[in-house]
Amino acid sequence: MINEERLKQTFTDLVRIYAPSGGEREVCEYLKKIMKRLGAKVTEDGAGEATGTACGNLMALFPATAEGLPGVAFTAHMDCVEKCKDIEPVLEDGVYRSKGDTILGGDDKAGVAAIVEALTVMKETMIPHGRILAVFTVQEETSLGGSQNFDGRHAEGIDFGYVLDADGAPGTVAQAGPGEYKITCTMHGRAAHAGIEPEKGVNAIQMAAAALSRIQSGRIDEETTCNVGCIEGGLATNIVPDTCTIRAEARSRDPEKLLRTVKTMTDALKSAEADFPGGSAEVSAEELYQGFSIGSDHESLRLVRAACASQQLPFRLTVTGGGSDANWFNRNAFPAVLLGVGMTSFHTSSESLALKDLIDSARLVYGIIEAQSHAAHA
Ligand SMILES: [Zn+2]
Repeated sequence: MINEERLKQTFTDLVRIYAPSGGEREVCEYLKKIMKRLGAKVTEDGAGEATGTACGNLMALFPATAEGLPGVAFTAHMDCVEKCKDIEPVLEDGVYRSKGDTILGGDDKAGVAAIVEALTVMKETMIPHGRILAVFTVQEETSLGGSQNFDGRHAEGIDFGYVLDADGAPGTVAQAGPGEYKITCTMHGRAAHAGIEPEKGVNAIQMAAAALSRIQSGRIDEETTCNVGCIEGGLATNIVPDTCTIRAEARSRDPEKLLRTVKTMTDALKSAEADFPGGSAEVSAEELYQGFSIGSDHESLRLVRAACASQQLPFRLTVTGGGSDANWFNRNAFPAVLLGVGMTSFHTSSESLALKDLIDSARLVYGIIEAQSHAAHA
């Protein structure tokens, strides 16, 4: 079944290739070769052109070998956050870490490698399967730009999908994720000499402080969060500052709560105008992506449950507070849930990945294909 040595080789090959967001070409070519060898119909979409970079999403389509089975997609992203150049993976006591001060890149090469291995086993065992589409996306880490620009027409005949890009051990499934808004505010005050004529000034930093004191930050309720992340303003202590910029975000898995939170925040920012005559607050709120929620009785979850049972992995249903390709696939292409691949401390140089989790992820993907296969005989 799962070939451990081959899976380890694929994983270490993948993390050694330098693949920052927007620079996925080499990983893409590596995967293209493997997918072609497996007999998939391989295409690259226009996400690269849409985002002004050289590489698009890679799609590998395996036509159905049996009738009446659901079409299933497996996706993972090809890009990494920096530092990801010259990653040297070291396997010690059953755990992968990077040797130097780079990340490991298990986010998301663990997902990519698990998909590759499971599809390889699928071809070896010649198990009957429905339509299967592997999608390897670009620019997840910077903007979800790959999945955002994914054209749903490429997913024709696909009923649902699995995004392998979450923390938690294999068997952990996130069925919902929040939508997110980015809120930007520039307080416009008036500059004046701080010692000679401060009365003529309007202090933009104090405008920001007054507004922010009315904003609740952190966890608003169990499905809603908000964060004031950046503030910038002022030039010198002897000048009343005339601008101050605030950048914040709000997220919620409930679309109405999200809008309400955004409105509370923008109203609070605007309220500084009343406190500081002569000053103005320029506020904008931009939706980055929408949330998603998959019902517990959805077929995608039924298949993971069956796969966990057959592979003897604990099934754990959860929700996420982060954004991922799943947000855009749900909107653009097919219902999708997120699968945990075991990555820990990702985006840092102490990132690690247990070999057992890598193997279990591949087993889980293969288990889902097996469960899909049995859907026919039900
Ligand atoms: Zn990721």
